[in-house]
Amino acid sequence: MLRLNSADPTASQNAYARRPQPSSAAPPLVLQPMTSQFDVVIIGAGAAGLFCAGLAGQLGLKVLLLDHSDRVAEKIRISGGGHCNFTNLDTTASNFLGDNPHFCRSALSRYSPSDFVLLLQKHQIAYHEKHKGQLFCDRSAEDIIRMLLTECAVGGVTRWQPCAVTAIRIAASRHDGTSTGSYEIDSEHGTIRSAAVVVATGGLSIPKIGATDFGYRIARQFDLPIVALRPALVPLTFDAQAWAPFAELAGLSLPVQLETGTKKDKISFLEDLLFTHRGLSGPGVLQISSYWQPGTPVRINLTPQHDLVTLLSQAKASSRKLVANELAATLPSRLADAWVAQGPSLGHDWRRPINEASDKAVTALAERLRRWELTPNGTEGYAKAEVTAGGVDTRCLSSQTMESTQPGLYFVGEVVDITGWLGGYNFQWAWASGFACAQALAAKLLPARTTTASD
Ligand SMILES: Cc1cc2nc3c(=O)[nH]c(=O)nc-3n(C[C@H](O)[C@H](O)[C@H](O)COP(=O)(O)OP(=O)(O)OC[C@H]3O[C@@H](n4cnc5c(N)ncnc54)[C@H](O)[C@@H]3O)c2cc1C
Repeated sequence: MLRLNSADPTASQNAYARRPQPSSAAPPLVLQPMTSQFDVVIIGAGAAGLFCAGLAGQLGLKVLLLDHSDRVAEKIRISGGGHCNFTNLDTTASNFLGDNPHFCRSALSRYSPSDFVLLLQKHQIAYHEKHKGQLFCDRSAEDIIRMLLTECAVGGVTRWQPCAVTAIRIAASRHDGTSTGSYEIDSEHGTIRSAAVVVATGGLSIPKIGATDFGYRIARQFDLPIVALRPALVPLTFDAQAWAPFAELAGLSLPVQLETGTKKDKISFLEDLLFTHRGLSGPGVLQISSYWQPGTPVRINLTPQHDLVTLLSQAKASSRKLVANELAATLPSRLADAWVAQGPSLGHDWRRPINEASDKAVTALAERLRRWELTPNGTEGYAKAEVTAGGVDTRCLSSQTMESTQPGLYFVGEVVDITGWLGGYNFQWAWASGFACAQALAAKLLPARTTTASD
């Protein structure tokens, strides 16, 4: 069997690419599968898998990292517009959702944004803060990928790519009936035996760059519960007919306040909104989408920085401008025009000079802009979602180690029912959960290996 050891991080990631190409005269080279032995097999060479692998290797474990894609960390590559928003300085557990968001506290406290920043500094990667604690690479997201590959190389991590896993099972018990406490993994490169398996296969978003439901299937195979999955950090869509008056605003962006939920679970964000042909997007909408429940409304204040009732009342007393022109002082004029045009369908004539509009009409206009309530008919789905909400139920995982109730089986990163807000939180969860897992693997497996060696 051919294996690619990642000692050279710039080496081809495709093990088969190194294979001598048989000439048409030579007999084909047949790869014989065999059983390999590792301390730990990490499935998924994305953010969490690469980070966990490098650490576990550097702590002294024999690590195999495999991925079915031929390129590592595609999501890091495309993240943050190619500059990767790799963490957020203000990370706390309140920036995450899940059935039990407190679950992430322990891991987040043991590996903080500044720990990751120190790693970047060690690798001399330049970065900057863009907005609300969000850190981005100055140059390119590739810097983060190269850093993670270098860390894997330092840890002597073996990497097989592309390599699909076809089955995972608990290794057969010993002759005396006791469990071997290890796993057998059937892969395209043969069978692997390992004491632990880490599932780091991420969520379902962006299937065209390698996302699969593999992690959830493994959880189900071992009877671990899954919290219902749904696209999150995703644009919202509306019924085509209802959206028609706003479709022409596609491309328009403005700062708004968005809110969803009822009294107890109400949440709001003050961020930008972007009109699209089919609905709404932009940072504010992506944030609120993670909390939005189908069939419920989203409430938007289109003028959060202004007291529009007072502004329009003052204008009514002193101006003869058209209502739309007065509105354009606080809103983009395209939006002001589209808004005023809705008047007749709502029983108001807003297409007149403001001094001729009734008090009732002016108040209704200001109120509707302050509390625009609309019910999405869905989302743009996994093709456009940045993350998957839901996942492996944290009730069956240890928050200290990421080990599941199935001994030796660990879950890290997005596959777990922990979803971060927009703004670098999801990568921070990938690093923190990967760190907790690597530490736990070393604490559990290194003493066991020493004992076995001295037996
Ligand atoms: C467009 C976009 C932009 C984003 N921008 C940001 C950002 O700026 N900041 C931020 O914090 N978060 C961002 N995110 C979210 C972030 O990328 C993810 O939360 C993070 O990558 C999750 O890390 P992970 O290691 O759990 O999963 P991933 O990084 O998705 O890695 C999973 C790996 O598992 C592999 N895999 C899947 N199935 C199998 C299988 N069956 N066999 C073997 N391997 C498999 C995949 O090929 C992949 O390499 C963005 C997401 C998207 C889609």
